[in-house]
Amino acid sequence: MISAGIDVGSTATKVVIFDGTIRSMAIAPTGWNPKEAGRNVFNEALIKAGLQERDIDRIVGTGYGRVSLSFIDKKVTEITCHAKGARFLFPQTRTIIDIGGQDSKVIAVAEDGSVADFIMNDKCAAGTGRFLQVMTGILDITLDELGQMASGSKPASINSMCTVFAESEIIGLLAQEVTKEAIASGIVQTIANKMIGLTSRVPCLEEITFSGGVANNPEICAILSSVFGAKFNIPDQPQIVGALGAAIVGFETI
Ligand code: ADP
Repeated sequence: MISAGIDVGSTATKVVIFDGTIRSMAIAPTGWNPKEAGRNVFNEALIKAGLQERDIDRIVGTGYGRVSLSFIDKKVTEITCHAKGARFLFPQTRTIIDIGGQDSKVIAVAEDGSVADFIMNDKCAAGTGRFLQVMTGILDITLDELGQMASGSKPASINSMCTVFAESEIIGLLAQEVTKEAIASGIVQTIANKMIGLTSRVPCLEEITFSGGVANNPEICAILSSVFGAKFNIPDQPQIVGALGAAIVGFETI
């Protein structure tokens, strides 16, 4: 039995092919056409797995763009999928912190793995991957470079949480010849602070698993890990947790 999970996110589309273990995965930008992104990334994951579409017994879609997928068997919310995916990777997970392209969320998981509670910031770009993308644009660096630059530098203070105002603040810091490293460190600290604020609204039990594309930034991981303690799990591929969960939902219902 083989299932596929397709997570059409605001920024990236992720696919996992699952046969009890992760058989293949693929990630690509969603772009302007979520339907096409879902199909293309699914095809890429099939090729990597050496499979054809007819070999897949069940396809489950999640993410904001799941509604545009006509070839799937079932649609499931991101909250359920993140919980499933995180528990597969780290079975003791009780809290999931997810920072994606356009939202951030905290999900509380009961002992039996069901979703007990969640809170989501999807009203503004502050504290999301979009914030990081805008800031790397101003600094003219990649997301990976931002992660490297932020490490070991004293953070420049960035007071605005709002992406638009923070952008102006950073332009001002560059004019004052504050180093890119200090600004990168300040940007990362801003994202971490925003997430720490969100976690105060849902009880965060251990173990905590950090998912979403922003968990690819080692400095944000280091800050959150120092705040939340030893039982803070960072998956090797944090961006595919939702797609993995969708694939598992499919696998369980074949
Ligand atoms: P969505 O499901 O909303 O599309 P994802 O969980 O796929 O979101 O995450 C997308 C975000 O991941 C992007 O906005 C980007 O900022 C962030 N991201 C991807 N790679 C990196 C990286 N190396 N460092 C920091 N952030 C990253």
